[in-house]
Amino acid sequence: MKPRIVRANEGTTKTASLEMFVGHVLHDQVFVPEDPSRLRVSRVTFTPGGRTNWHTHAVGQVLYVISGTGRYQLDGETVEEIRAGDTVIVPPNTRHWHGAAPDQMMCHLALSENDDEGAAAEWLEPVSETDYTAPIA
Ligand code: MN
Repeated sequence: MKPRIVRANEGTTKTASLEMFVGHVLHDQVFVPEDPSRLRVSRVTFTPGGRTNWHTHAVGQVLYVISGTGRYQLDGETVEEIRAGDTVIVPPNTRHWHGAAPDQMMCHLALSENDDEGAAAEWLEPVSETDYTAPIA
């Protein structure tokens, strides 16, 4: 890993793939893993209604909510509201999703680690409207 500062204007903002997300979601790479680190850091901005598909992370994930109000659910548990300043600790190999509230944006940092194959997540099916709009805890 070579020491340097990556300037704000060096990155690119991409629309997140509809194979992994529902709705309009913007994805900025903050840090891409470089040997020997496996850390991956992304800033993800979800417009109202936007959310990830169901997915898992082999070694878990940390989410830090920068702004707005969102939703987070572990499979089999109640949907939780997440707000600016909250840190969400996602356990390894646990089905979950995260996204904006239905009527508000949400931006979070997502910190995860690549596995031996270079993947930080296993992507599954979209979150249904029924799951997404279930009452929050
Ligand atoms: Mn996740």
